[in-house]
Amino acid sequence: MDVEDYFVGVMRKIFILLALVSLQLQAQDLPHFKKVVKELSSAKYQGRGYARGGANKAGKYLEKEFRKAGVDEVTLQPFTIDINTFPGDMEMWADGRKLKAGVDFSMREYSPGVKGEFPVYHVDTLNFDPDKLLADLALPENKGCLVCCDFWFTYKYRKLFSKLQKAGECPNAGLLLTWAAPIKFFKAYGEKVVDKPIVWVTPEAIEGVKSVKLNVDSEFLKDYELFNVIAKVEGQRHDSCYVFTAHYDHLGNLGRKVYYPGANDNASGTAAIVTLAAHYAKNRPEFDMYFVAFSGEDANLRGSTFFAEHPVVPLSQIKYLFNIDMIGDDNPVQYCEVSDAGMPEYPKFEKVNAEHHLFQALNRGDLAANSDHYPFAVRGVPCIFLENGEGSAFPHYHTPADNIKTVRWNSYEPVFRLVTGFIDSHIKLEE
Ligand SMILES: [Zn+2]
Repeated sequence: MDVEDYFVGVMRKIFILLALVSLQLQAQDLPHFKKVVKELSSAKYQGRGYARGGANKAGKYLEKEFRKAGVDEVTLQPFTIDINTFPGDMEMWADGRKLKAGVDFSMREYSPGVKGEFPVYHVDTLNFDPDKLLADLALPENKGCLVCCDFWFTYKYRKLFSKLQKAGECPNAGLLLTWAAPIKFFKAYGEKVVDKPIVWVTPEAIEGVKSVKLNVDSEFLKDYELFNVIAKVEGQRHDSCYVFTAHYDHLGNLGRKVYYPGANDNASGTAAIVTLAAHYAKNRPEFDMYFVAFSGEDANLRGSTFFAEHPVVPLSQIKYLFNIDMIGDDNPVQYCEVSDAGMPEYPKFEKVNAEHHLFQALNRGDLAANSDHYPFAVRGVPCIFLENGEGSAFPHYHTPADNIKTVRWNSYEPVFRLVTGFIDSHIKLEE
């Protein structure tokens, strides 16, 4: 082969490679995915919570992003929630040592704010006697104390410890619940506020501590308006549809300085459905496609429950619903849950996965009320929940470290190909 032929050969190879790469980009679009994850987890949206309007700001951004993706229609579906928030002061000292919000301590989502200095009563879990605890708390030296106990231990004695949250039941001022680092923050039961403050704290931060000072503000938002963002791509047929869902809200703020970026939970799933919308807007599908970004998920599946109760398309017309939550990770095995109505077609996911060498395996767990597929699953909709599960991003779940630095990009493409491959085989197998 002379130099010229060699050159032409190399050029041809480069050309084919470029053509293949551009084909790939038209399907799953990793740069677009990354861009949306980065935007949603940025400080601008303050962890997509409520007190600072971060969730609704993110919803407005998504409305624009879906339009840019070329969908036919975007509608906002408003609903309201009652929710407890922590937008102001968030300070804690243990025997005079200042602790770090979000790292050493966080608040139970239904805790009221609290200001003051308190003695600490450490529960002896090794020689535990409920009567002795109540007798001790009645002693004058323990009046107005914070009762400190391992969270899972209090869980075993739920009835007793729920008394310690109620005014007029016991003379304690509140509770300190220990939880091994990294300390988490939740929102799921924040639709109410109990009488006494409850603080999560790491065992290291509170061990042997005699006195705790707290300066914590809370704000209870009543009938706070949120909205789901619903994008639609018209197919050639309108008698049934596919639905992609992901929640875009997260935990918001823990005080003025700390917010929860939620890059994996669930900027990742939200970004995935934006790129799926762009894909189907370019490649007209046979059936109508809906892309629903839910709000209020971390506040107990509120957006998806509202949608399931007020569907924009009859639930019986949904051929399959794909709920994508936390795929910003690198587990080579993909976790999923499938509704009863979705089980007859579950083998197709396994077939697509094996044929295209996407994940090492799919690991199907029991259906649980852990994400937005659940309100649909209990209403008989065929659906699958896709969460990448325990990869290297997972330990940061519900901590401020679930951010753009710890999120992983590995699972996006195989998840994209799994759901689009399922739809392709779905249509083929029906013919
Ligand atoms: Zn989530």
